[in-house]
Amino acid sequence: MTVKEIAQKNPESLIGRAYTFAEQAHAGQMRKSGEPYFNHALATAETLRRWHIDEVTIAAGLLHDVVEDTAVTEENLQNAFGDEIAFLVDGVTKLSRIKYRGAEAKVENLRKMILAISQDLRVVFIKLADRLHNMKTLWALPPAKQKRIALETNEVYAALAYRLGMWEFSGELQDLAFPYIQPTEYRWLKQHVAGAYQTRRKYLELIRPMLEEKLKNAGLKPLAMDFRAKRYYSLYKKLLRYDMDIEKIYDLVALRLIFETIPECYAALGAIHQQW
Ligand code: MN
Repeated sequence: MTVKEIAQKNPESLIGRAYTFAEQAHAGQMRKSGEPYFNHALATAETLRRWHIDEVTIAAGLLHDVVEDTAVTEENLQNAFGDEIAFLVDGVTKLSRIKYRGAEAKVENLRKMILAISQDLRVVFIKLADRLHNMKTLWALPPAKQKRIALETNEVYAALAYRLGMWEFSGELQDLAFPYIQPTEYRWLKQHVAGAYQTRRKYLELIRPMLEEKLKNAGLKPLAMDFRAKRYYSLYKKLLRYDMDIEKIYDLVALRLIFETIPECYAALGAIHQQW
């Protein structure tokens, strides 16, 4: 169930109450992108739900901008939702005052400061979910702001997410920031990669049934088999190390097999190596 569905089905639950409270607090406010402000709060909470985080944090995600951007005070929030949620929202508000200007000698200090100010990792998760939606709607901001926020996302938040083990998410943030930080390189990459990507994907689709047959004969059944495209930003960084030559990048797109156990992985690798 999405956050919206949870709130509609059970309006008296914590998430339901936070949903109504935030929707009313942000009523009439618009984002620069032209959508209602509440969409941003909801998108943040929805990301947290997809990460399977506890409902207190999801509720705090819905409420994360009410103190900063509406008439609601910290006391109002505390009275309505208690200390824990007020603490989480306050943490997010404090983080929003820390800005990366690109001038810091050591961006590492900034990352450490963010962790210290947060006191509670849940604050960082809310901030990361908040940042994801801000990056998706970054097009609506003026260019100077776009660049600053994109740099901050890349240098500070994607790096933090990576260290928290959120590798997929970190890559997603980097890909969202990339076109704003290096627009020329991004355009070049998109143009040059598209053809190579198509060719290789077609090849993998062609060998897929052969591979399935081989695995079946070896008595192996993968839990999943899918295509994984390399992310733009990591591809770009890799190309820098390979003379910008796409032909030298072997993992532009990969066929990924997932097995239940490690011995099955090795057995599958053996079966694959017999032929390729
Ligand atoms: Mn926000």
